[in-house]
Amino acid sequence: MILKIIQSAFCRHDYRLFQIIQRNPVYQMDPLTKWKCLKCERVIYSRYMDCAE
Ligand SMILES: [Zn+2]
Repeated sequence: MILKIIQSAFCRHDYRLFQIIQRNPVYQMDPLTKWKCLKCERVIYSRYMDCAE
C-alpha cells in the first residue's frame, strides 16, 4: 500500500481509457470518462472523451 503511494508520487502517468461513465444530461459538469494509469494504477476522472485531463 505504501509502495503504491510512493510509486504514484513519482510516476509519469500513462493514462488509458478505463471506463465511459453514463452522464446525467442535467449535470454537464460531471466526469465523463475514467482513466487508469498503466504504471501505477492510479485512477482519475475526466470531462473529456479523448484526454485524461
Ligand atoms: Zn501513474
